[in-house]
Parts: sequence; C-alpha cells; structure tokens
Amino acid sequence: MANNFVMAGVMGWPVGHSRSPVIHNHWIRQYGLQGAYGLFPVQPGKLEDAIRGLPALGLAGCNVTIPHKVDAMKLMDVVDPLARRMGAINTIVVAPDGALHGFNNDGYGYIQSLRDASPNWQANAGPATVLGAGGAARAVVLSLLDQGASEIRLINRTKSKAQDMADEFGAAVHVFDWAERHEALTGCALLINTTNQGMHGQPALDIQLDRLPQSTLVSDAVYIPLETPLLKEARLRGNATVNGLGMLLNQARPAFKAWFGVMPDITDELRTAIMATF
Ligand code: NAP
Repeated sequence: MANNFVMAGVMGWPVGHSRSPVIHNHWIRQYGLQGAYGLFPVQPGKLEDAIRGLPALGLAGCNVTIPHKVDAMKLMDVVDPLARRMGAINTIVVAPDGALHGFNNDGYGYIQSLRDASPNWQANAGPATVLGAGGAARAVVLSLLDQGASEIRLINRTKSKAQDMADEFGAAVHVFDWAERHEALTGCALLINTTNQGMHGQPALDIQLDRLPQSTLVSDAVYIPLETPLLKEARLRGNATVNGLGMLLNQARPAFKAWFGVMPDITDELRTAIMATF
C-alpha cells in the first residue's frame, strides 16, 4: 500500500493562497487514488535545496509558482522544449531514475479554457490583443502562435519588455505603446489581460472598450475575482467572456496525469469546490 501512495505539491512564496491543493486533492478523491497534494512555502534562497530534495522525499513532482518559475527551470535535468521557449516552468516531474523534468502547462491551460468556453474557437480567426508581457503573457503568446495565430498585438506598460518578446517570437507579434491600448482593440477577435490589473487588491485594468467589436472573445488570466471589472464590462456590452479559472484548472490536468496516471476531468463539482474558496 505504502509505495502506491503518490505525493505532490506546490512550491511558492507566499503559497497559502494557491488553489492547487483543492484541485488535485479533489481529483485524488474523485478517482479513488492513494495520495496527497500539499503546500510548500519555499523561500527564494531555499529553492535549490527544496527542488533537489524532491527525489529523496519520494515525491512524484510538484508545481512551482511565483516567484520560482524562472529559477526552477535552471535546476532541471531535462526541460520540455515549449517550457524552454517560455523561459519558465510550472511543473516538475520526478522520473523513476530521479531526474527532474520541467514543463510549462500554462499556455495549454489557457488554450483549453478558450475551447471549453467556445468550442469553435480558432486562433487564426483574427488579431489577438494581449495586454502584459510577464510570465503569463509569454505562455499565452507562444501558445496562440503555436495554434496558428497570424497577428498578435502586444501591449505592455513597460514597452521594452513587449519589444523583447516580439524580437524573440517573430513577425506575427506587433508591439503597440501602452497609450495606444484602446485603439489596438479595433477589429480584434480575441482580447486577453495577462497583467495583474483587476486582481483582488489591484485597480481595474484601465482600458476603454469602445472600439472592441461585440464579437470579440474577452479573456482574463486573473481569477480572483472570477469576474474582473474588464470581464464585467465586456459581458455587459454583449461580448462572450472567459475567466482565468479555466486556465488554472486546465493547466493542472496534464500535471495530474504525469504524477497520478489519470487525465482528470473538470467537473461541475470541482468548479463548485473551487468557488467555495473565494
Ligand atoms: P508578472 O510576470 O509579474 O507580469 C505582470 C504584468 O503585469 C507585467 O506585464 C506588468 O507590466 C503588468 N503590470 C503590473 N502592474 C501594472 C499596472 N499598474 N498597469 C499596467 N500593467 C501592470 O506576472 P504573471 O506571472 O505574468 O501573472 C500576471 C497575472 O496573471 C497575475 O494576476 C496572475 O495571477 C495571473 N495568472 C493566472 C494564471 C491562471 O492559471 N489563470 C496563470 C499565470 C498567471 P510591466 O512589465 O510594465 O511591469
């Protein structure tokens, strides 16, 4: 029995707010598995010790979250090519020989959340406007490109960070000034906020939606609150919206599969369990 017990968790600092234990422990119960998913508060200076300890502790792996996603990648024995392009990992899988494999499922989670909300969604339906140029933006932009997006309008408060991304990711990525963000919505098919604006404790994203077509799918990486001011305004003017919870839930699925051997479903019960934590 004991060697069938599978243990995983999430390393972050702070990490207490993470909803990942709710998700993974729900699936462990749902599929009748023996295991547990815990919270690991790991200070930045302790990251290497913590990661090197995973095989010794017998863990199947773990998630890494803020502020460890970039530094953790440097400690992997093998990095998935997509994660390498993203420049960060969010999932570690300990191989049977103890080798550490790093993956990044954030982009997968985002694309799946769009498909769940809008099954006919196509990346090449028209320009996508991406606000932000941090870790979430890198995952979103690369995934949209991999799905066939032909035009991405990238807008960040610090323009140089957006320009660096465009230089790296190619000609489909067009950079606009932050001051141009309202005009850049003209004719776009998809809008995604990957800044922290609209998150609990932060002001609403400062953007005027007048030029946004009503057919644009509007999405937000932020999931606390579930309906950000951006999503609320978009919904009230008739746009379809996708909140950040779908991204969070979907990025967890391939990690759970890698550790526990089952590709889990996102059920209404799981959504209810998560929503009870807000
Ligand atoms: P990050 O790397 O720190 O990037 C933060 C971004 O927010 C940067 O583009 C930054 O612009 C921008 N920003 C910060 N303050 C701003 C302001 N006052 N006005 C305009 N822009 C501002 O963070 P991240 O990891 O990309 O995460 C971003 C958000 O996505 C967070 O809210 C996070 O919770 C969410 N997220 C959700 C999921 C999910 O599964 N749903 C996954 C990952 C992240 P500058 O470059 O100018 O500083």
